[in-house]
Amino acid sequence: MDFAFSPKTDELRRQVREFVQREWDSPYDSHGNTVYSLDVDVQEDERLLQEFARKLSATGWYTMAWPVEHGGEAIDYETQVAYREEMAYQRAPISEPGFEAPMLMIHGQDWQKEYFLPRIASGEILSWSQGFSEPNAGADLANLQTRAVRDGDDWLVTGQKIWNSQGHHPWVKWGHYLVRTDPEAPKHRGISYLIVDMESPGLVIRPLIDAFGRRRWSEIFLDNVRVPARNVIGEENRGWYAAMTTLSFERSGIDGPARRLRDLEDFIDFANHTKINGRLLVDDAMVRHTLANVRVEIEVCRMICYEVAWLQSKGEVPIRESALTKLFRDEMIPNVFEKMAHLLGEYGALMVGEPRAPLRGYPVANAYLAGMNRFAGGGREIQKNIIAQRALGLPR
Ligand SMILES: Cc1cc2nc3c(=O)[nH]c(=O)nc-3n(C[C@H](O)[C@H](O)[C@H](O)COP(=O)(O)OP(=O)(O)OC[C@H]3O[C@@H](n4cnc5c(N)ncnc54)[C@H](O)[C@@H]3O)c2cc1C
Repeated sequence: MDFAFSPKTDELRRQVREFVQREWDSPYDSHGNTVYSLDVDVQEDERLLQEFARKLSATGWYTMAWPVEHGGEAIDYETQVAYREEMAYQRAPISEPGFEAPMLMIHGQDWQKEYFLPRIASGEILSWSQGFSEPNAGADLANLQTRAVRDGDDWLVTGQKIWNSQGHHPWVKWGHYLVRTDPEAPKHRGISYLIVDMESPGLVIRPLIDAFGRRRWSEIFLDNVRVPARNVIGEENRGWYAAMTTLSFERSGIDGPARRLRDLEDFIDFANHTKINGRLLVDDAMVRHTLANVRVEIEVCRMICYEVAWLQSKGEVPIRESALTKLFRDEMIPNVFEKMAHLLGEYGALMVGEPRAPLRGYPVANAYLAGMNRFAGGGREIQKNIIAQRALGLPR
């Protein structure tokens, strides 16, 4: 099979390269560079990201994959892949709106599409608070206990969410939350999916700090938070199915291999110029062997991602293929960094901020942080269950 891209996408890649080099110059280690940012709590970097999103929106590329009726160009599969790959390879912090937009296109009520989609397309709404996980509902998400009780034209929501990545940032105005609206129904069938105003009275946000001392997540406490009934996404008590669409988009991430390819190339450059224990890193056969293995792993991941993008471009929701992509990618990414850190020997233990740390301590920091991929969005055992049951038809 020939995966060569057409000359028309070569021209787009050239324009993308120029755009990113001109417009993205953040001194922080937070977007595009890392898997999970080190400077996650730097507000100035988030401001730069928003500026970049607005400029990107003005190019027309940002939403060119969207259907025409929502203001996009419904561009073909090949162009989408070429664009996203090039953006990621050039270390653009973002290339298109998040997974909330396609989910709303499929499940959102008319007013939700009319209100949110143009604001997402312009870059005004960049991030959402995703209120899925709870202390006793992570991998077993359908066990969630946050309760919503009907009160006139509103829902009153009470409960606790955890591991919320975005909710505490002042620019995050909206959340999409899973809540239990029918406690008598079987657990998947009594859940509704709500759009929540993050400034609602009764909503309290408390910090959760990561191993590097960064404020990475929040716990969100809800005490009789009033949410208008019209904020239900899809049908009442059928929120589980709309949320699964969200997760399938979240799991598709095709830019992972392109970013890691760039990291690998930087590392190879470093290995070509750096001596450890008196000899160039690249002169060590074990180093060359490891880097070749990493290159193969990245390429395999890229091929699997192509399949997901192809299915999405046909309007399908590739649940099982996305699970496969996530499973492979979430192993591949920490592997790449763990192997790089290992190749640096004792220097690989020097952390960010230490002046002698090779590559600014980036490989080792990411070896730690990228391990989070193995949990975020559902652990690898859960992905394996999806593949076993939905792709291979194995019994539960
Ligand atoms: C960086 C990061 C960002 C996140 N951001 C958000 C966010 O914005 N919003 C949000 O709602 N959540 C977020 N999460 C939470 C994430 O979705 C959960 O961590 C994930 O669903 C796993 O849940 P848990 O941590 O409770 O682990 P658990 O559910 O306790 O699982 C622990 C381990 O047991 C395994 N396991 C569990 N059940 C089974 C089973 N039945 N069979 C086999 N193995 C099983 C899991 O695979 C995992 O390895 C984030 C997590 C991370 C790491």
